[in-house]
Amino acid sequence: MGEFDLIKRYFDRPELRPGPVMALGPGDDCALLEVPFKHQLSVSSDTFVSGVHFFADMAASKIAQRCLAASVSDLAAMGATPAWFNLCLTMPSADESWVDSFSQGLAVQAKHCAISLAGGDTTKGPLSISIHAMGWVPIGQAITRSGAQIGDVIMVSGSLGDSAAGLQIMQHQRDAEDALSQRFWNPTPRIALGQWLRNRATACLDVSDGLVQDLGHILKASGCGADLQLQDLPLSTELQAHAALSRAHNYALNGGEDFELCFTLPPHLVSQAQAYSQLQKLPLTAIGYVSAKLGCRIWNGDKGLFAPPQGYQHF
Ligand code: ADP
Ligand code: MG
Repeated sequence: MGEFDLIKRYFDRPELRPGPVMALGPGDDCALLEVPFKHQLSVSSDTFVSGVHFFADMAASKIAQRCLAASVSDLAAMGATPAWFNLCLTMPSADESWVDSFSQGLAVQAKHCAISLAGGDTTKGPLSISIHAMGWVPIGQAITRSGAQIGDVIMVSGSLGDSAAGLQIMQHQRDAEDALSQRFWNPTPRIALGQWLRNRATACLDVSDGLVQDLGHILKASGCGADLQLQDLPLSTELQAHAALSRAHNYALNGGEDFELCFTLPPHLVSQAQAYSQLQKLPLTAIGYVSAKLGCRIWNGDKGLFAPPQGYQHF
């Protein structure tokens, strides 16, 4: 099967267009996309490399789900509504059963995120996947990293560290289906939460490289510091059953790829966040405060300061 037949059959499918309509979708030199009046286009690119971001011998459907979720998570972190994505797929051969599985996983996640495939590129080479996710946000309402204020409460959604534990499980068992492994191959972009945080959170990002490192980006951009409480980190019951507490804490602080949102909230809005959390059945946990003293300190109850190991570094 040639390149164009492959694209037509596996990527130009209605199942991959569950999101906003496009003036023109895949098939021409460009897609044509219209952003609603008084909205800004938010665009984010991610490249996923075989052996770095996923195991080459994972099911292709899981690779696709994971990559698209990770990309959409960036839109969620800005408070954007997902709309379209481009997919640049580089693969060693046109293995139809692999592409079929990939396309099916992509459709599952696209439906979940209500995002439509607008176009892309298909080339031969070592397996890698680039996704350019696009969404929209009302002008002036995107949540950046730079607005945190001293005294804001630092909160995170869901639980932390599960994906890092899941990755470790999958290192030994590629087809693992337990809850932790699922957090690795099928993370949940917090799309609705991101939108709820517009005009509420002063700063927000998604946790992709580990909480300490990612929160550091907010602190740097906002020119402030943080004091966190180790015992307040939200750990899932699955993670606590899987790993000793010190390892669970390490995963929560430094394991990346949870794709939960970490945000700063003025204290008077915390009760609103708690009500939202109850209604949506999504844990939102206060883990510390934004402080004037630069740097991020993690307090281990009355044992004083806790010194965490480093987060993920690509180089
Ligand atoms: P060109 O050579 O003009 O850049 P291509 O041959 O790369 O065009 O692609 C033809 C059409 O197929 C384009 O509309 C492109 O967006 C779409 N396309 C290519 N690869 C993919 C893919 N993996 N997923 C979705 N659309 C794709
Ligand atoms: Mg091209």
